[in-house]
Amino acid sequence: MHHVHARPFSPIRPASQLGFIAVHLLPFFALYTGATLFDWILCAVLYVVRMFFVTGAYHRYFSHRTYKTSRFFQFLLAFFAQTSAQKGVLWWSANHRIHHKHSDTPEDPHSMKQYGFWFSHIGWIMVPDFEDTRYDLVKDLQKYPELVWLNKYHLVPPVLLALFCMFLGGIVNGGSPAAMFTDGWSTLWIGFFLSTVILYHATFSINSLMHWYGRPRYKTGDESKNSLWLALISLGEGWHNNHHYYQRSTNQGFFWWEIDITYYGLKVLSWLGLVWDLHGVPDHVKYSKEKLIKA
Ligand SMILES: [Zn+2]
Ligand SMILES: [Zn+2]
Repeated sequence: MHHVHARPFSPIRPASQLGFIAVHLLPFFALYTGATLFDWILCAVLYVVRMFFVTGAYHRYFSHRTYKTSRFFQFLLAFFAQTSAQKGVLWWSANHRIHHKHSDTPEDPHSMKQYGFWFSHIGWIMVPDFEDTRYDLVKDLQKYPELVWLNKYHLVPPVLLALFCMFLGGIVNGGSPAAMFTDGWSTLWIGFFLSTVILYHATFSINSLMHWYGRPRYKTGDESKNSLWLALISLGEGWHNNHHYYQRSTNQGFFWWEIDITYYGLKVLSWLGLVWDLHGVPDHVKYSKEKLIKA
């Protein structure tokens, strides 16, 4: 077991986390309303689609700038990433940049090695220390007023998506848009809230488990690991040791068998001309004798 350090952070104030706690409890209303097949299908679809934007937008575009796009599509990437209710795009990117700069040292906001599973998984989000956006770390994104606006009003995209789910639920479950306030509730509990909770914990697993579970390929000086099954549920983020080793690559699966669904999606967007200049990993980096860990 890891030696868990005393945390230099403020304690969790549950009263300031009521929204985050409520998101976890709201799906239970489905025990009262029931749920339709459509609600469950929407839950799965919104998990996959939003995970694509968490990894392809928050992570590979905004945090690491591994490819380029237009200003308009950049806004769409930010908007759809934020439908995940993982706060603003500048907030997300700033904390992620701190993670890479200080991986598995006491300054890492979510290090399992330093602070144990629960804090690295969920605690760091619930303490006041990381609540504010560190604009000094995302000056490249701060240049765009539309992104700063989205970051400030970060609940706009998830609230609009939640209403849209109810609207769809009204049509599919109740036969008309007006039925959204009768037959759309179960779509809200399962299609929106349950998939949001599952998406939270799949995303958070990269912060916690991916620095503990799996195997490293490269010497990175931190605890990052690679894992096929975490790569499958996170659409490619499970090749986390590859990513820590060479953050500039859009592709996190360095070999053909390292399935990276987000990358395949971004490749399709590049064929459509919506994104461009995707980076790969150069051979001298990929096969570095110094950095490869002997099997
Ligand atoms: Zn990263
Ligand atoms: Zn990491």
